[in-house]
Amino acid sequence: MAASFQSIRYSLVIPVFNEEAVLPVLLRRLDLVLSRLDGPAEAIFVDDGSSDSSSIVLRALATRDPRYRYIGLSRNFGHQIAITAGMDAAQGEAIIVMDADLQDPPEVIEQLIAKWQEGNDIVHARRLSRDGESPFKRATAHLFYRLLGRMSSVGIPADVGDFRLIDRKVLDALRQMPEQDRFVRGMIAWLGFRQTEVAFHRLERAAGETKYPLFKMVRLAMNAALGFSDLPLRLAIWCGLTVSGLALLYGGWVVLLWLSKDSHLVTGWSSTMVVVSLLCGMNMLMTGIVGLYVGRIHAEVKRRPLYVVQARAGFDRSEAAAAPAIHAVNE
Ligand code: UDP
Ligand code: MG
Repeated sequence: MAASFQSIRYSLVIPVFNEEAVLPVLLRRLDLVLSRLDGPAEAIFVDDGSSDSSSIVLRALATRDPRYRYIGLSRNFGHQIAITAGMDAAQGEAIIVMDADLQDPPEVIEQLIAKWQEGNDIVHARRLSRDGESPFKRATAHLFYRLLGRMSSVGIPADVGDFRLIDRKVLDALRQMPEQDRFVRGMIAWLGFRQTEVAFHRLERAAGETKYPLFKMVRLAMNAALGFSDLPLRLAIWCGLTVSGLALLYGGWVVLLWLSKDSHLVTGWSSTMVVVSLLCGMNMLMTGIVGLYVGRIHAEVKRRPLYVVQARAGFDRSEAAAAPAIHAVNE
């Protein structure tokens, strides 16, 4: 490891997409927080294809001040990819991801660090309130976190965005997950480790407007649902079983009516309905079964590691036992 690698303790990763309006106040607040931290820190700005002056300002800052770094992506790749690029470049022992718009107050970083120093590997920042966001965004976000919590087998914490601190070993594990459609908060929850949270009030955007229009939110929600749950795939099986079951019940009912020579029975219609709905149900069932196989293929192509080791003990001892002579000399 290079000396500079070890010397940095904290890495801040900040995705930026056309944030020129907020940069002056962000840089002022960031400067204060960086100077208060109890170790060397770097702030990595990832310019996600900005077309305003953000790129020029941040690039100039990075060449002038050694605490700041600049990564310019070649186009707008989206928030999740931008934070991935920043984390890949981070050198610190603790890595903190935060938004540029000051909705994630830089002052909360010190609380995240305090929890990390208590021995936690992942510290999520949970939103107690969301100021200045439309009722629609609040309601959909609320629903999204609740639904995702129910659908997913991984405990993805509710009301937690991407504002969090992770330890270097968590980042190393995260970097073994090369999946394309990334939902970073889910991937981190999937990793396990010692997790805790700090609560904060999410403020209004300091300046500028949201870079997360509805279509980007829907894409994020789809990535979350498809990457962390196989419920959508299994849905077809349950629909198929229900429809076929109902068709069979209806078929039985029609036969009973026919046997009792009920005059209301329209000849031809009932048998057609029974056959059509039964076939429909079978079709869905088969789609669901294909879905299960697709699900397995999907799990394989994500190429997530099978498991993540948090700690190891006793291995050196067995090595020593295999070579007792060397061990004795060392003692
Ligand atoms: N962002 C980004 N690329 C995008 C969209 C957003 O890097 O395609 C950044 C943006 O500059 C900000 C953070 O991601 O730092 C969160 O975006 P925003 O505040 O617009 O989202 P909201 O808080 O409205 O959900
Ligand atoms: Mg924001």
